[in-house]
Formats: sequence, C-alpha cells, structure tokens
Amino acid sequence: MHEPSDKLLKRCVSVDIEVDPKTARIFAFAAVQRGETPPILSRKGDLEGALDRLEAAVANNDHLIGHNILRHDLPHLAAARPRLAMLFGAPIDTLWLNPLAFPRNPYHHLVKHYHDGRLQAGHVNNPELDARLVFQVLENQLNAFHDLQRAEPDALTAYHFLATRQEASAGFDAVFSLVRSAPVPSGRAAEDAIRRLLSGRACSRRIEQTLGRLASPQLGWPMAYALSWISVAGGESVMPPWVRMQFREAALIVRHLRDTACDSPDCAWCREKNDPKRALSRWFGFEAFRRQPVDDMGRPLQERIVDEAMHGQSILGILPTGTGKSVCYQIPALSKFDKTGALTRNVEFARNAQNLLQFLRWRLV
Ligand SMILES: [Zn+2]
Repeated sequence: MHEPSDKLLKRCVSVDIEVDPKTARIFAFAAVQRGETPPILSRKGDLEGALDRLEAAVANNDHLIGHNILRHDLPHLAAARPRLAMLFGAPIDTLWLNPLAFPRNPYHHLVKHYHDGRLQAGHVNNPELDARLVFQVLENQLNAFHDLQRAEPDALTAYHFLATRQEASAGFDAVFSLVRSAPVPSGRAAEDAIRRLLSGRACSRRIEQTLGRLASPQLGWPMAYALSWISVAGGESVMPPWVRMQFREAALIVRHLRDTACDSPDCAWCREKNDPKRALSRWFGFEAFRRQPVDDMGRPLQERIVDEAMHGQSILGILPTGTGKSVCYQIPALSKFDKTGALTRNVEFARNAQNLLQFLRWRLV
C-alpha cells in the first residue's frame, strides 16, 4: 500500500451502527481502528458507556469513516449524543466515494444491497465486522484513485473540487489531497479540468452552461457522479440506483450535457449524436428516412417523429401500416440509452382507430 494511504487509514475510526427500525434508536454499534486498539462495542444496555469511549476515540483521530455514515450513522449518533456532532467535522463516507472510485463497476464486491449500498460480510447484523470491512473498502478506493490519477488526472482534479463544496467535507478533502498530492484546486482549475474531461463526450454549449453553475454547493456531488458516469459511458456501466435516488440532479446533468440538442451547426456532439438522420444511419445503416408519408410541411413523418422524440417531446404518432413505425421508437430509445444510460418512455402507436381511442382514453385518465 502507498505509505500516505496507510497514514490516513491510521487516523480513522470506522463506525457501524444498528438501528431499531421501529423506535429509530441505536441498539448496537461498533467502532474500530486499525492495528491493536481494541474495538468499542455497544450492545443492548451499555450505549452510554460505549458513546463515552467513541467520543474519546474520535477526539484522538482525524476521521470518522463508514459506509453510508453521512445519511445514516452520523445523524443517529448525533441524535443520541448531540455533543458528538461537533467532533464529526471530517467524516469519510465510503458509499459516496464508491461510484467515483469504481465507475465501471460501482457494485463493489464487498457491497451488498445495491439499492441502499450496505456492506456484505457474509453475516447478519455484525457491526464490528462491517466496521472492519470499511477499512478494506477505503483502502481499495484509495488504490483505485491512485490508478485513476495516473490515467485521467483531470477526473481527480474535478472530484477534489466537487466533493468539497459542502460543509464538513474535510474528510473528502483529505482523501483527494492525498491522492493528488495537492490542495483543493481553484474553481478555474476545476473548470478547465472538467472542460477537458467532457470534450468530445458532451454538447459544447451545454458544457459551458453547466460550468457556469459550478460554484453552487448543491451541484458538487451530482456533478461528480455525472462526470464519473460519462467518463465510462458506452460500456456496461450503470449509475447506481441509490445515486439516482439520493442525487437526482446527477441524471439530469447527464441528460442536459448529452441529450439536449443545441442545434448549433458548430457543435460536433449534437451534429453526431442529437441528429435524427445521423442516428438513423448509425443504428440502422439507412442514409435517409422514408420519403412518404410527410407532415403538413412536407417533411417525412418518420424523421419528424424521431426528431421530436429525440428532443424530449411527448408525441402521438399515427402512421399507416407498413410505413416504418418501429424505427420511430427504436431510434430515440437507442439514442437515449447511449447518451444517458436511461430507458425511454414508450412512444405509443395506435394500429387502428380502436387502438387510438384506447390510447387517448389511457392518456386522459
Ligand atoms: Zn450541442
């Protein structure tokens, strides 16, 4: 292991708590450190004594670490003993780091329950084992970040800036300072890094619009997740469901950057990826849409429907049998999945008047 990583891990206390879902009270927790220090264990009845020992351990170390501690363990601990909240200035949440460290496979082999991101230790409710696992997860993440720093340093520059926009982010600052051997980059340096990172991977106009909002503290983590997904887009990569749930903005940023045509003739991305004819050629190998039937402006209906759908419009397409309805929903769906990893809403087609009536009735309900 890198020596600085070892140093960081020695300054951490890993915590895992079990909460009674009915009372929202802590019924067990464990806090462990590396090396010989004995674990702090709390089982039914001795919570107060264990919290005393945790308080002392946290005061002697820099970081409280854990998997999903920011939204789970820390709020519960602070509720049980408000004074502890003061000591939690520099937590490191390994759940939050995971999609950045492993963008291709965010389901770390130690992480079970891919919806809530809990740890896998081959047991039920053993907080001590879970707390020890966190050290292994963080060590793997640090190694992955060191590799990424060599392969794509712009990504680390961006993550360092974005992960430190909100309060109490000194723990994440410690992680990225260690990997980059540098302090938090300036806004300007982060902008330049993100621009290079997104070049050829998103619409140039939307990149500039997004960079204009970079100072917003709410944008930090969602933007980091959007970047990490885009950096590996096109493979099997998926944005973890918990990211889509807890950081809704992440998927919106991806959509804005890659799936919102700017219609500028100078934008290479939109000319290639947000153009219905290019999409037809790419996915089906045809150079033009069917010339008939046409809309009232004389534009082929197939092309019009695909264009509107690719622009995110809700549409109702009515075409005679045998005039190529399927490409009208297949192209927008393929194109959207390619650009955002998302499945599209169905484009509905009515085969005859009866279906059309059913369709309209369903839409009106
Ligand atoms: Zn564009």
